[in-house]
Amino acid sequence: MAVQSVESSTTSSASASGAFGPAVALSCRECGERFDLGPIFACEACFGPLEVAYELPADDPEGLRRRIEAGPNSIWRYAPLLPVPADVADLPSLNPGFTKLVKADNLARELGVTGELHIKDDSGNPTHSFKDRVVAIAVQAARTFGFTTLSCSSTGNLAGAVGAAAARAGFHSCVFIPHDLEAGKVVMAAVYGGDLVGIEGTYDDVNRFCSELIGDPVGEGWGFVNVNLRPYYGEGSKTLAYEICEQLGWRLPDQIVVPIASGSQLTKIDKGLKELIAIGLVEDRPYKIFGAQAEGCSPVSAAFKAGHDVVRPQKPQTIAKSLAIGNPADGPYVLDIARRTGGAVEDVNDEQIVDAIKLLARTEGIFAETAGGVTVGVTKKLIEDGLLDPSLTTVVLNTGDGLKTLDAVAPTTGPSAIIRPTLDSFREAGLA
Ligand SMILES: *Cc1c(COP(=O)(O)O)cnc(C)c1O
Ligand SMILES: [Zn+2]
Repeated sequence: MAVQSVESSTTSSASASGAFGPAVALSCRECGERFDLGPIFACEACFGPLEVAYELPADDPEGLRRRIEAGPNSIWRYAPLLPVPADVADLPSLNPGFTKLVKADNLARELGVTGELHIKDDSGNPTHSFKDRVVAIAVQAARTFGFTTLSCSSTGNLAGAVGAAAARAGFHSCVFIPHDLEAGKVVMAAVYGGDLVGIEGTYDDVNRFCSELIGDPVGEGWGFVNVNLRPYYGEGSKTLAYEICEQLGWRLPDQIVVPIASGSQLTKIDKGLKELIAIGLVEDRPYKIFGAQAEGCSPVSAAFKAGHDVVRPQKPQTIAKSLAIGNPADGPYVLDIARRTGGAVEDVNDEQIVDAIKLLARTEGIFAETAGGVTVGVTKKLIEDGLLDPSLTTVVLNTGDGLKTLDAVAPTTGPSAIIRPTLDSFREAGLA
């Protein structure tokens, strides 16, 4: 069984009743100060970001492994390691996760990889991006805190994930996006029936606007999944680490290539791997985490290469719009992790992104969105630069579906020929 929170003097009634499973507090990433589990995201003492702290079940790894393996084929199989109640799988949600880990032998051959190469294909989630994972946990927290409206600032995928999850879980939703996103993402964010608001500005403008809403009476009763529910939201990304290890046969990968927008996903994948080691579900040995950005929005990669600890904001200009966050909240933590694990942060330009999308499609039959082009393109570059060891086990994340970013490849992808419906016409086209 998952360890229940029992620190009666310091925990809220919500955690005492099991609403947050093994989570016991929020703790500040900067100063370590602890707070009751609540809809807060910044430390009162130092304004540092808060994250969920646990008493994890470490006494019986074999029993826990059996219990996970017998669980549902969704992120809820890892409920004993998440800030959710034990019966979470019975509550209405999109049940995301447990997406395919594809052994990419054809791509490996093209890239000169002699070890194992895997694509963790999160386009298989309910709204076709990894965002369903983080939203599912945030919705659970929103339910516990009594919020009635779900909201977010989004680079596109999050808006669709929130709209869909709200529809299923019975919340009103109102989500905010930059007005100039890809048509596929705008339609997908709107179709679930909630309110969708396009903001004239960049993602960073949208995010600032949402922070203002939270402080205003207009935003009362609103759960912003990536702002005031951010500590819970972030925990959803740990499930990528859990799944990768379980799907490798409870084994750590040697190297993981992760896309960076705000950097939350990368930091929580690291947290998830560390937890599995601490609990004893995988062997304790080193792993390297690599971050991937688009050149047109590469504040973290620029800081990594310059040897800086702080990230200087940029104004994004790239086809990888889902990653276009010019002022990434978790940038400094990403730098720490890349350096501590012996990884790196690299970027590729728009042309390399498109080439990588096509390379993955042609070799493995996986159509990635631009973010997947970024990770595959960066993997290629890291191998060429000798930073990623091609003889080891590597996992590359594809976090979204190519159907959402058709514009990226449409100009250079299309029919081989358009012919009249006759054999002569086909012969003339020279394809036989
Ligand atoms: C949001 C997103 C990411 C990563 O976001 P973080 O803010 O770094 O957690 C990666 N890929 C896609 C497709 C996304 O939509
Ligand atoms: Zn603090």
